[in-house]
Amino acid sequence: MSGARDAAALAYPFTVVPEPGTAVPLADRMLWVRLPVPGALRHINVWLLDDGDAWTLVDTGMNVPESRAAWEGPLHAHLGGRPIRRIVCTHHHPDHAGLAQYLAERHGAEVLMTAGEDAVLRRVEQALADEQLEAARIAAVEAEGLRVEGALAQVIRLERYRGVMSGLPPRVTHVADGETLVAGGRAWAARVLGGHTDAQLVLHCEADGLLISADQVLPRITSNVGIFPERADANPLASYLSSFEVLEQLPEDVLVLPAHGNPFRGLRTRIAQLREHHAETLASILPLLSEPRTAAELARELYTRPLDALNTYLAMAETLAHVRYLVHSGELRAGDALPRRYVRAA
Ligand SMILES: [Zn+2]
Repeated sequence: MSGARDAAALAYPFTVVPEPGTAVPLADRMLWVRLPVPGALRHINVWLLDDGDAWTLVDTGMNVPESRAAWEGPLHAHLGGRPIRRIVCTHHHPDHAGLAQYLAERHGAEVLMTAGEDAVLRRVEQALADEQLEAARIAAVEAEGLRVEGALAQVIRLERYRGVMSGLPPRVTHVADGETLVAGGRAWAARVLGGHTDAQLVLHCEADGLLISADQVLPRITSNVGIFPERADANPLASYLSSFEVLEQLPEDVLVLPAHGNPFRGLRTRIAQLREHHAETLASILPLLSEPRTAAELARELYTRPLDALNTYLAMAETLAHVRYLVHSGELRAGDALPRRYVRAA
């Protein structure tokens, strides 16, 4: 996670920030909604776009009682008796898609996602129901040197995930890269970007200089870029770094609307900080691998503060993404025996 030192270089134009469970106006026909998220993240920002007779919602919040209560109470009042007609999930993570099925059922809404994220969502759902797939998930994690037991076993078995998702939307409309989505009286260009997850959707409104960046670019923390059994991307760090080439083509004064933290200006500055963060992580891994080590051992060297089971898993997944990046670039090689050990290429 990057430090707050970086945040000072960005401009935060909004002085009024919504409390979790409430909304404030963000722009004409657009509300900034904040919902509670348990744990270190604390909140997620989601966006309500006023389509006149109905609403488009971008991301939903997690399926936790506090968020459902907000949608039934203070946020329901903001809707003014008009339904949510479309729910756009930027990606499959539970804070973004956790209430999609719940809200779709209540409002009769259409759910939109990229094909790549829909596929991840369905692979996770299959793993929940299939013991062989669950065993394969556990084997994939243990192959990298992390013993799956206790609280970590609950994480890998997705026990918490089952609760924070309200269900799988039976029908999902796919949004493709380059498509235009009209919502809240604006045309939004859809861009599909990899790295944080296989195919995250970000939305750019050129006319008003707005970018719904989801988890692709966050102002104060770095997005998790990891390798996970349910994902298809074998080199997510390369995908993440190449997504910056797309984002750097946007105007520097675009107002970035992130999923966590406050709206900010300074997109290219933030991208430069993120590039530096990943370059530093890559550079710190190489000297540690003059002797063969597993990704789990390496993660313990890189993340020295105490971590709970979920964050132990995320730290290992993120370390592995950096290690595999270095394998792909020829700087490391992976041993054949399990657990897999990595070493500097001669
Ligand atoms: Zn995410």
